[in-house]
Amino acid sequence: MGASQQSYRLYSCARCAVQVRICSDCDRGNQYCTGDCAQIRRRESLCRAGVRYQLSFRGASMHAARQSVWRERRTKIVTHQGSVPGIDAAIVVTSPTMTEEPDVELVAPLLSSPSLRRAMAAVSYCSFCWRPLPAFVRSGPLRSGP
Ligand SMILES: [Zn+2]
Ligand SMILES: [Zn+2]
Repeated sequence: MGASQQSYRLYSCARCAVQVRICSDCDRGNQYCTGDCAQIRRRESLCRAGVRYQLSFRGASMHAARQSVWRERRTKIVTHQGSVPGIDAAIVVTSPTMTEEPDVELVAPLLSSPSLRRAMAAVSYCSFCWRPLPAFVRSGPLRSGP
């Protein structure tokens, strides 16, 4: 809630070592870049945890239970999907009547202005939410040792 600390953190992704700027609002102790690294790492650790879990007897029976739930749910999804194509067709038919242009069209001409480009190069942006960052950078996490 306290958005009083106007600072950001500069760190290197723990997986691909790319440099990341993160504002205090986005900072949840992030270690990875804005790409797939966090997801990849999470998947890797989930896989490892899953293997370990299934090795135990309890894990094996839980796995079986989950499988049957999954099968049941999948049957429901499949039967539900049977009614979807009609809705899809309705969306396709009505969308060409929408004349609203995306905001990108308005921003693009501004970006071609040299002075604005220079100004943007001087300002750093949060790699996650792309808001301009303050000049002050903290060199590490808040709770870094002495
Ligand atoms: Zn990365
Ligand atoms: Zn941010």
